[in-house]
Amino acid sequence: MTVEIINPATGQVTYRHELMDAAAIEQRLQAAADAFPRWAERSLQERGAILKQIAGHLRARRDDLQQAMTSEMGKLKAEALAEVEKCATTCEFYADHAADYLKPQLIDTEAQRSYVRYEPIGCVFAVMPWNFPIWQVFRFLAPAFMAGNVALLKHASNVPQCADLILAVCRDGGLPDGVFDVLHIDNDQAAEVLRDARVKAVTLTGSERAGRSIASNAGSQLKKSVMELGGSDAFVVLDDADLDKAVAAAVKSRFDNSGQTCIAAKRFIVVDAVADEFTRRFVEAAGERQYGDPNERGTTLAPMARADLRDELHKQVQASVAKGARVLIGGEPIAGSHAGYPASVLDQVGPGMPAYDEELFGPVAAVIRVKDEAEALRVANDTRFGLGGSVWTRDPVRGESFAQRMECGAAFVNAIVKSDARLPFGGSKESGFGRELADHGIHEFMNIKTIYVA
Ligand code: NDP
Repeated sequence: MTVEIINPATGQVTYRHELMDAAAIEQRLQAAADAFPRWAERSLQERGAILKQIAGHLRARRDDLQQAMTSEMGKLKAEALAEVEKCATTCEFYADHAADYLKPQLIDTEAQRSYVRYEPIGCVFAVMPWNFPIWQVFRFLAPAFMAGNVALLKHASNVPQCADLILAVCRDGGLPDGVFDVLHIDNDQAAEVLRDARVKAVTLTGSERAGRSIASNAGSQLKKSVMELGGSDAFVVLDDADLDKAVAAAVKSRFDNSGQTCIAAKRFIVVDAVADEFTRRFVEAAGERQYGDPNERGTTLAPMARADLRDELHKQVQASVAKGARVLIGGEPIAGSHAGYPASVLDQVGPGMPAYDEELFGPVAAVIRVKDEAEALRVANDTRFGLGGSVWTRDPVRGESFAQRMECGAAFVNAIVKSDARLPFGGSKESGFGRELADHGIHEFMNIKTIYVA
């Protein structure tokens, strides 16, 4: 089957590629199984040296990677280049820190010697999305390689050239054959791959729909899974917030990457005392975002990745307006564009509206006005999602106390929620389970083995 890739900025087909057949999949599954024991035996120093070479090749090919990201999913040039650099530094980070994360943990018992040892498990299947098409993959790959695991990637169907470039960079960096490969396959073929005995576990970043399907398949095979799913992060503005900082952060968190970020701020929960002032400034700053060619320096709002995603977002906006939300800016697709949606702000958002209950995966902010801090906390937690959240206040003690009571995987005070190789990353509630990054991330796909010598 041939898949056509449409440049979301132009609407033109820019690339065509074929899905793999059963023989091609079988060859890669077997190569991964064959490569695993040899890769697992290599020392951490050897694996780390290869990861550092991969970091070098990422930097050397940053322009190619940027062009692939921009033409396949519309990412702004500057954002794409920053994404490549983040991948390179994360490779270096794991090359430098894995030995510490993986050293045996001595445990004091009555035995002569008892300890925990971390062992790799084999081939991990990665199903990845298009929104950060290089970063989401390296967030998983860097720790996986250092753990001694091998990996197969099924990337989102709209970013095949990004997938092929990741493979090329890994090979150029000296990764042995079979340690990593790309499967250009559809979702039915992906389900078969997950059922294969040579695949030991799966990691997904994507929608809830994909998560339910893949996690249930993994569960029925008794295979470990990590799920990084959607979010509807609260951005809570308290009465003593520094509004200059809060507004600048709100605009960045909501509209970078055209709003297509799982940990973007989505629900802006603002206490009445500052709601008018915050909202006025937020709308003004949102209006400064300039839609256009993502390769041009002056463009500050990218197209959405696909026209169907833009249309879905617009339906959520219309349904919210029908239930009483007020459009303060934006709220209609950009005329003449293939997948453009303006930086938009909805006010008076409340329960029963998609903007309150669902994830808005695009450049639309939902402002929810609340009476006071207690109501802000109740609304922040009034969601089935639990990925991240932030709170804005001049009092760091108050902020920390609020953050501790937010039901999510990461709560930030006076800072935008972000992923960082040094910090664990992942969700609670229906945002998923398991963690990536830091020491927690590298341990997810390892056998945490107890050794006891009486
Ligand atoms: P999907 O979840 O469908 O895509 C993410 C990845 O999962 C892709 O590789 C996709 O493959 C794959 N996939 C989807 N369904 C299955 C399945 N049943 N079995 C195996 N693999 C599967 O996201 P969409 O592109 O449809 O985006 C829709 C929504 O998902 C967004 O609006 C957003 O809410 C959420 N999303 C969240 C992300 C996050 O970072 N948490 C990232 C991307 C999307 P294929 O492309 O071939 O269908």
